[in-house]
Order: sequence, then C-alpha cells, then structure tokens
Amino acid sequence: MRGVRNCIRCLSDISAQALHPHQPSRPLSSKALHTFSLQPSQERLFSTTSTSPQHSSNYTTPEPGPRSKTRRRRNPFVLSIGAATVITAAWYALGSGSKDESLNDTRFTAFDVISNEPVSPTAFVLTIRSRDIELAKNSAKLKAAWEHGLWSVEFKQPQLQIARHYTPLPPLEGEDGTEGHLRFLVRKMQGGEMSNYLSRMQVGHQVWLRGPHHGFDIPKRLGDAREVVFLAGGTGIVPALQIVHKLLDTSSVDGLADTRPSIRILWANRRSVDCVARDGLQGKRRADDEMQSVFLRQILEMKRKHGNQFSIDYFVDDEKKFIGIRDVDAALRKAAATKTPSTFQPSNKSCRWHSAELLAVSMDEDDGQAPDAACACAQERAGRKIVCVSGPDGFIEAFARPKRWAGGRELQGPVQGVLGTIKRQGKGTMDDWLVLKM
Ligand SMILES: Cc1cc2nc3c(=O)[nH]c(=O)nc-3n(C[C@H](O)[C@H](O)[C@H](O)COP(=O)(O)OP(=O)(O)OC[C@H]3O[C@@H](n4cnc5c(N)ncnc54)[C@H](O)[C@@H]3O)c2cc1C
Repeated sequence: MRGVRNCIRCLSDISAQALHPHQPSRPLSSKALHTFSLQPSQERLFSTTSTSPQHSSNYTTPEPGPRSKTRRRRNPFVLSIGAATVITAAWYALGSGSKDESLNDTRFTAFDVISNEPVSPTAFVLTIRSRDIELAKNSAKLKAAWEHGLWSVEFKQPQLQIARHYTPLPPLEGEDGTEGHLRFLVRKMQGGEMSNYLSRMQVGHQVWLRGPHHGFDIPKRLGDAREVVFLAGGTGIVPALQIVHKLLDTSSVDGLADTRPSIRILWANRRSVDCVARDGLQGKRRADDEMQSVFLRQILEMKRKHGNQFSIDYFVDDEKKFIGIRDVDAALRKAAATKTPSTFQPSNKSCRWHSAELLAVSMDEDDGQAPDAACACAQERAGRKIVCVSGPDGFIEAFARPKRWAGGRELQGPVQGVLGTIKRQGKGTMDDWLVLKM
C-alpha cells in the first residue's frame, strides 16, 4: 500500500509542518542570516549616533530647531527599531546555529541535487548530497540506516506540500554509504505528482528529505536461516538491493564454509528496457564503466561479487512473461532444497521476530522502533526464511493481498493471493517462511 501510506503521511505531518514557524524549508533561516549580516552596520549606526561629536551635538543642543527636534524625537524610535532588529537577528542567528538541521524523521532537511541520470524512458537515478554544515551528523545517521538494512526517506514537494517515500540505492563499490551522498531509482508515473517533480530536478537544485525510516529488521527475522526470495515489481527491486548490501556486501565468508544467505529476486517490469543487466550484459564489465548507468553498474557489481548467492530472474509484461504461481513455488522449493534446514520451530508463536501471527498485526516500521526486543524462540540464532513482496499496490495485492489499516496503523495483514494459495496447497512448503509486504 505504498500510495496509501504516502497520502496519510502527507496529510498529517506536512500540513502540521507547513504551519510551523521554524520549518527549515521556508526561506526563514536564510532571511534571518541576511538580517544578521546587517548587524555590524546597525551597530556602527548606533555607536556613531551616540558617540560622534556631530551627532551628540544634535542631542545636546539646548535650543533645537524644528529639524533637530524631529530628530531628537525620532532617534529613540530608530534606536528601538534598530535594537529590535539586532535582537531578532541575533535570536534567529543563534537559533538557527544551534538548531539541528540534520536528517531527522519529523522535519524536512535540505539536500543538493548533484545528478539526475536517465536509466530508461521512464526511470532515472537522482543523486543528492548532504549540505556540508550537517555532513557529520547526517553521515552518522546514514551509517546507522545502512547498518539496519532496509530503510527509506520521504521527499517533499514544497508547492503542493505532499511527501512520498523513496528507497536509497546501496553504495557502489568503494563507497561506504556515509559520505552524505544518496541515490534513488525513481519511476516517473504518468500524472504522478512527486515522481514528475523529482524528474525535473537538476544539478544545483535543492530537495527536502525527512527520515531515515527504518523498515523490517531482516537479519533478526532471518537469524540462521539462509534463504531470501524477493518478488519485486519495478522500482520495488531497490529494497532487495538494500538487503543484498546488508546481508552479502557487509558480511564475509566465515572460515571455509560459506554461511552467507542466498538472495533470489524475481523481478517483474512492464517493458524490456527496464530490465537492467539482463542477458548478454550479465557478469560482464565494459571498459567504459563510467558511461554505464549507475544503476546498471550496481547490479553488475553485485552479480559479479556474489555469484551463486545472488540471482535475478527477469519477467516482462511486454514479452508476456509474468511471474506465475509456478515460478514462485519453484523459487521457494529451490531455496529450501539447496540450503541447510532453518532453525525455526513452528511452536514459537509468541516470538516478536519469528511468529507469522504476530507479523500479521505489525508494521514494518515497528522493527526499527524496538531493535533490542528479545527473541522468544528456544534456540539461539533462531530464524525463518523470508519472502519479500515489494512493488506497487497492485503487485503486492496479487502476490500477498494488501496490507490492512487498523487503528491508524498500516498492518501487514494475512498472507493471501499467490503466496496464500501456495501456503494452502503446498503441504508445508511455506511453514518455515515469513512473508513481508513492503
Ligand atoms: C516505503 C516506500 C518506498 C518507496 N520507494 C520508491 C522508490 O525507491 N522509487 C520509486 O520510484 N517509488 C518508490 N515508492 C513509491 C513512491 O512513494 C510514490 O508512491 C511513487 O513515486 C508515485 O508517487 P507520485 O506522487 O509520482 O504519484 P501520485 O501522484 O501519488 O500518483 C500515483 C498514480 O496514481 C495516479 N493517480 C493519482 N491521483 C489519481 C486519481 N485521483 N485518480 C486516478 N488516478 C490517480 C497517477 O496518475 C499515478 O499514475 C516507495 C513507496 C514506499 C511506501
């Protein structure tokens, strides 16, 4: 329910922020800064007025003419206006100096656009960079987000005062993800307000972000289980790449045994041009890497680095190749057959991390709120294999049925659709899997 979540957030938080007098997106702080820059001359005006012989004579002349009378009456007024200006300027300047303008999940923070690169006729990669002044704080927050694994931020469209979530692409090889750069794969939706607004952003423009919002804690839920299957529609592949980054890029082979999980992505796109790194390009690196789309480079890098631990199967509407129940069933069976048995024991229905029943009444953001909650399973490093369904509302609906709203919270709800059918008919195929709707 990507769209619904976006709307709810924009109605509640943005309108509240629009009324907030210190909201950083307004020109207030720069205006304050401008006012503050006038302060020295204001001070000069005060001091010359009070100390210069000529001016003091105006004050002390015992029989002032009409002009000097006027001046004498106006000066206290000018003084008080000037004093008020200086005090206001100092208040704003000190306030904005001490105010935390770094990335946070209640107010929007400015980032600069450093590139906008087309990936296909309908998708582009937007790269933005933190302002230097908040770089250190932002870097710490980005580090924590990458350590968590799955996360997103909201962008705001200032004219319409709406916000939408977007998922940062993982850092490329050689980057550590904390330099203050963020990249987003965005699909331009026909008639879509935010995606079209972002598509118009060019180098030097400013965008406003709120977050990071931490999503599911995949490592905790996975425990010692080693299989992750991703059903991804369009830009829904980005969370899958975040998981690859979390589980494969940042973990190393433990001794001789490769205990890393395997991540298999079934990726559906409407058109073949969106199937980045398919067919002949797989695993190859062209000499002119710099010329390649940053997104293509990312997928090629992951394929090369992770070999059998990472695979993508492509499905294209235009080619009449859709993800069917057989493809999903085959992916689950293949994953289950090739790996060590998971440590899940079906009885632990009270475990906040591994119970499918508790998952159905949770939100993805709950995991980030209680990262230290204990696992209630009997065995150490308990875990369950994971199927993620990530994409537009219709995609999630087809494979697992929509999330469910209750008490103002967007809960996961029961698993139905294609995965529900496999669960019912699969004679236990899915007993040790958790289904996460994203
Ligand atoms: C956690 C999360 C992460 C996400 N990550 C990404 C990401 O990395 N990349 C990405 O591209 N997207 C991502 N999304 C989706 C993104 O948030 C937006 O929903 C998407 O970009 C569309 O927003 P929009 O404002 O452009 O479209 P909207 O204006 O919301 O419109 C969406 C569609 O609905 C149609 N529509 C709008 N209003 C009406 C109406 N009244 N009647 C009929 N049709 C209408 C529009 O024509 C358009 O096709 C994510 C969503 C979530 C929840």
